[in-house]
Amino acid sequence: AKYSWVDKDTCIACGACGATAPDIYDYDDEGLAEVIYDGDGNHGVKAIAEDLYDDLQDACDGCPTDSIKIADEPFNR
Ligand code: SF4
Repeated sequence: AKYSWVDKDTCIACGACGATAPDIYDYDDEGLAEVIYDGDGNHGVKAIAEDLYDDLQDACDGCPTDSIKIADEPFNR
């Protein structure tokens, strides 16, 4: 399984990830990205569906600040 969260301390609110993977990433009131998939709340605990893995990787690769974290285990943040 794959899990993800966004480090808002380094996110620059560029808007790329939500455009690339709108089912996984959305933005808070300040425009900073967060994982909204399956009600994750940016905790990195919801297993992302396999059909979204390409979007997940594309968003991660496209983040200019490497703020998108991905792992095979839940982050439990
Ligand atoms: Fe933030 Fe990276 Fe998403 Fe841009 S692509 S909004 S820097 S997490």
